[in-house]
This record gives sequence, C-alpha cells and structure tokens, in this order.
Amino acid sequence: MRSTVIAAAIAGLLAVFPVSSPAVLAADETGAAILASDARVSGDADRTRFVIDVAGEVEFGTFVLSDPNRVIVDLANVSFDLPADAGRDGAGMVSAWRYGQFAPGQARIVLDVDRPVAVEHSFYLPPVGDQPGRLVLDLVATSQEAFEAAVKANLGKRAGAEPELAKTAGPVGGDRPVVVLDPGHGGVDPGAVGKGGVFEKDVVLAFANELKADLEKTGAVEVRMTREGDTFLSLRQRVEVARGYGADLFVSIHADSAPQNYVRGATVYTLSERASDAQAAAIAARENRSDVLAGIEADEATDEVTDILVDLARRETKVFSHHFAEDVIQELGTAVKLHKNPHRSARFRVLKAHDIPSVLIELGYLSNAHDEQLLTDEEWRDRASDALSGAVTRFFGPRIAQGKSEQVTR
Ligand SMILES: [Zn+2]
Repeated sequence: MRSTVIAAAIAGLLAVFPVSSPAVLAADETGAAILASDARVSGDADRTRFVIDVAGEVEFGTFVLSDPNRVIVDLANVSFDLPADAGRDGAGMVSAWRYGQFAPGQARIVLDVDRPVAVEHSFYLPPVGDQPGRLVLDLVATSQEAFEAAVKANLGKRAGAEPELAKTAGPVGGDRPVVVLDPGHGGVDPGAVGKGGVFEKDVVLAFANELKADLEKTGAVEVRMTREGDTFLSLRQRVEVARGYGADLFVSIHADSAPQNYVRGATVYTLSERASDAQAAAIAARENRSDVLAGIEADEATDEVTDILVDLARRETKVFSHHFAEDVIQELGTAVKLHKNPHRSARFRVLKAHDIPSVLIELGYLSNAHDEQLLTDEEWRDRASDALSGAVTRFFGPRIAQGKSEQVTR
C-alpha cells in the first residue's frame, strides 16, 4: 500500500517538475549525465543568486519546504564534480547547501535558507565564449505567509516525497540468516564531513562493502545492502528494504561528528525512547535529520505504532538487539578503540523495525582528526570489519552449524 503512495507521490512530482522521463532510468544508465563542474552563491539579505556551471541544457524544477526552510532544485540526469568544499559555506540568504543523487536519473540540490524566500527566476543560460552553460536561481526574501502558501501548494503536488525505491528481489530465503547492512546517508545527504574533507557517506559505504565481503567469506550468512552506490534512501525506506529481504539482523553503519573534537572511538547504539545520555540524543537527532537534509518532508506520524502485538515483538527484538550490541563490543573492542561508553541508546528512526534486531554502529568521529585518518585507513578498516564479522557469526552462533566452539556462546 505504501509503495502505491510513493508511486503516486513520484508521479505527482514528475507531473509538476519537468524531470520526468530521465527519472525512471536505472542508476547505471546515467553514463551520459550532464556534468556540473562548479557552483557559486552570492548576494545579501534581500536577494541571493545561486549559479551552477553545467555542460549542457538541464531539465530542472524547484520547490520550497519549511521547518527548516529549504529551496530544492531537482535536476534530470546530472552528475557532480564540484570543488571539495562546495556547499559548506553559503552567502546571502543561503546558509549552506548540498548536492548529489536523489533517485535514479534524478539529482538534487538542497539550499538551506535563513528566512522565507521565493524563487523569483530560474533559468538556463547557454554557453557563451569560454563561459560554460549555467543554471541560475534568483531568490528574493518574502513574507512568512507567502512562503507557507508556496510550501502548501507544493505539498499538494507531492513535492518533498521520498525517492522511488528500486525493486528488491523479495525475501532472500534459504537456511542462512540474512544480514542487511545499511551504509548511512548517500547521494544528496553526505552525512558528517571531516575536517580533511572526508564524507561520511563514502567511508561507511567502503566499510560496508568490506564487511559484506568478510561476512560472505564465512559462508554463514546471506548479506544484502540497503544501498550499493552513492544513492539516497529515506530512513523509513532503509527499514523497508531490510524487511523486503526478510532480514534477521540490521546493521546501520555511520561515522558521526561531535561538537567536541577530542571525542573518539566506536560506539554501538540500540533503540530506546529515552536516550542513555545527552550526547547519544544529539547524535540520534543529527542522524534523524537525513530526510530533512535531502529535501524530504519528514513524516513522524508513520513511526508510531501502538498495537499490543507489535509491542511484544518489539520487546523480544530489543533483547536480541542488545545481545548483538554486546557481541559487537566484545569483538570490536579487541580490534579498535571504542568510545569510553560504547553501548548507548537513543531514538534513532532507522532502528525502528519492531521485528528485526537492529543496531547502529558509529565507527568513529569524523570531527576527530585521528579518527578521520583511521576511517580512511585500509588496515584499520580490515581489522574493524574482521571484528564485526566475528560479532555477526557469534550472534548467530547457535544457528550456524560450523562447529567452531567459540561461536556457540549462547
Ligand atoms: Zn550518520
């Protein structure tokens, strides 16, 4: 039923914004994508201009979202090769911006604006002389009422919907437990960005690939990923993908940042309504912003399920999630540095499957220079991935008939 809603949402979005046919291309068919090579933002508190250099005429559409205020630009079939610091600093009314793939064949730019704005003009300028083609957006300050009206009008046309989800092949089946790895963020949501310019979305994908290979080598489990490339999924969709595969374990992989740059080490998070501590709450809040950062209208209401059977399932799932978190700490602790308080809990939206044991692992802090360096170090990645693979086989120990005594621990 939900997928019908999403399909309707996408259809609505495409009807409004001229990004239609390319949006249904598969990701690997976008080889001929138009390259965006540079971008600039300039202006003041009344007028701000955003310009992006593109190697050809781009089909695009814009809409605005509130809470927080954002301008979203959807582009058909564009790929990015922008300077490393692109989007970090804004100008005028744009405080920051981000870019990346949103759905197959559909790229997106999300501008965070510090007040209500209207898109006064948006147009493509063909190349002139040695000037490349440009996409230009002129933003003007507007009243709160006018902005809210524009947001409402857009939502009526289904802007702010989740990306179209690629079809999964259905439940994996077979005797082996199914592990779904979830590299956090992706596409238009880069996640945390290290001082050295490392994107969380890239390090966690590299790590998940390594872990997948390690787990497959054991022959003990089936492994699937929520994403295999630099693509975006909403938090709800990550859970939906895990369910689609019939997951027995869901492992979301992240590498966050903290305001205090001395904070270091890996942490395992499980779901709880009340956070174990203030820092855990802050990290969950940051991770839960993924949908907002990608220009999706967050839909908290769909999270709340109060059915009594679901409550019971949730209790059992919670026990297993805790068991696995402890396995991770045991194994990972022998291989890499853990945070001084390594098992914590908070209200992570991505951990809300009531029927699948789920943990979120923060491999380290990109806000710490040492952690950032380790997270991109192959030797560190090997060690951490080996250890996590060990934690998974330990967790499923009784279900895996391999006879290795150390695996049969419960
Ligand atoms: Zn993250």
